[in-house]
Amino acid sequence: MEAHPSLKAAQEEMKKEAKSSYFDLPALDVSVAFPQATPAANFPPCTSDYYQFDDLLTPQERSIRMKVRIFMEKEVAPIITKYWEKAEFPFEIIPKVGALHVVGGSLKGEYGCPGLSITESAIVFAEVARVDASLSVFILVHDYLAMHTIGICGSEIQRQKYLPSMAKLQSVGCWGLTEPDYGSDASALRTTAKKVEGGWILEGQKRWVGNSTFADILIIFARNTTTKKINAFIVKKDAPGLQATKIENKIGMRVVQNGDILLNKVFVPDEDRLPGVNSFQDTKKVLAASRLMVAWQPIGISMGVYDVCHRYLKERKQFGAPLAAYQLAQQKLVKMLGNIQGMFLVGWRLCKLYETGKMTHGQASLGKAWITLKARETVALGRELLGGNGNLADFHVGKAFCDMESVYTFEGTYDINTLVTGREVTGISSFKPALLSTGSRL
Ligand SMILES: Cc1cc2nc3c(=O)[nH]c(=O)nc-3n(C[C@H](O)[C@H](O)[C@H](O)COP(=O)(O)OP(=O)(O)OC[C@H]3O[C@@H](n4cnc5c(N)ncnc54)[C@H](O)[C@@H]3O)c2cc1C
Repeated sequence: MEAHPSLKAAQEEMKKEAKSSYFDLPALDVSVAFPQATPAANFPPCTSDYYQFDDLLTPQERSIRMKVRIFMEKEVAPIITKYWEKAEFPFEIIPKVGALHVVGGSLKGEYGCPGLSITESAIVFAEVARVDASLSVFILVHDYLAMHTIGICGSEIQRQKYLPSMAKLQSVGCWGLTEPDYGSDASALRTTAKKVEGGWILEGQKRWVGNSTFADILIIFARNTTTKKINAFIVKKDAPGLQATKIENKIGMRVVQNGDILLNKVFVPDEDRLPGVNSFQDTKKVLAASRLMVAWQPIGISMGVYDVCHRYLKERKQFGAPLAAYQLAQQKLVKMLGNIQGMFLVGWRLCKLYETGKMTHGQASLGKAWITLKARETVALGRELLGGNGNLADFHVGKAFCDMESVYTFEGTYDINTLVTGREVTGISSFKPALLSTGSRL
């Protein structure tokens, strides 16, 4: 059978390419640092909204999306790689993020917070994470963990006192639950809170606490030595006996300043105990929304990785053709794109369940677990597509690949979130080996 004319032309072209010798090639331009591909400091346009999810968003949600996207591409993309490489925090960004008026999420407007819907907040986290996952963790810990604990579990006086400056990012918060010996099993935490005249004495250790090396306000969970229940306290940066040391040598989220915290007889006045935390169960009021926001970080991370890969495959040539022309490359790209469409729909549906008061903890956990699983696959495919440059933070994908490992682990690991959903759908808790099990505390 006669070949189609366009196929014939392509075959002729390939024959010509094959005949050309090394000496026929144009001279190399050695002045170009990154030949054939643009680094991510110049972030590519968004090409990952294939099913036009913008149509599912309200005009307000779309405008917040664009505001944050433009900010991230213009202000953060050009500078963030060097901070990630050095594992330092870009403090100059803090007032600019504050000026966006998105911090304080869904807390009410009277404390200077933007009063966003859950979907609007979710879109913010995805758009920040699309360009830099670490910055989205910085905001999430400050906003959906520290501020929301004060907003949901604090007294009116505490809300009035702390939230307005936190909403402007004039003071930064962190949230300390995890301890060196109690991570997934956080409800068994050992830090103690002993009642003394006029306040409480906190003693113990915390680990992994994001923002804690420079935070002004530390939310610390501790076990009440009288009731044996978990309480929460607002600890100030300069409290005597408090020490936060940066955790070094992380392989991901390198911009986030995670700390080991020592609480050596730290005095907290009565007015700084959060009255709404009287047991570990009360942390769930905060974690329901924060887990949902964390589920949106991998959506954004995957979008950014896809967008960079989409541009890269068209720019980079091997064997005489752009990488985008190869079936194997297209297959990977399309798999990534399909994952993103599914992840977005699950995330969006969870927001709607939350907004109508119907979202269960199991649903949030399934969303976080499944989305991170798909995102992990997506960033791994992206890293592969970029070849050697997939190992460089400059091309974003290697950096996002490493960051994604942290998201898979924090706010409940993949396993723990699976067990939360498993318990909800079967009615049987399997957090502890059967021999030890007296009912899970989680
Ligand atoms: C970058 C980063 C930022 C973080 N930020 C904060 C923060 O701001 N504040 C804070 O309080 N914490 C923070 N964390 C801590 C995080 O929440 C914990 O790392 C996480 O809960 C897991 O605890 P772990 O590291 O002690 O692991 P472990 O609990 O020791 O788990 C190790 C492995 O065992 C598995 N495993 C554990 N229990 C079970 C079980 N019952 N069944 C099956 N498998 C199980 C886990 O899934 C995991 O694979 C952060 C962590 C990271 C990496």
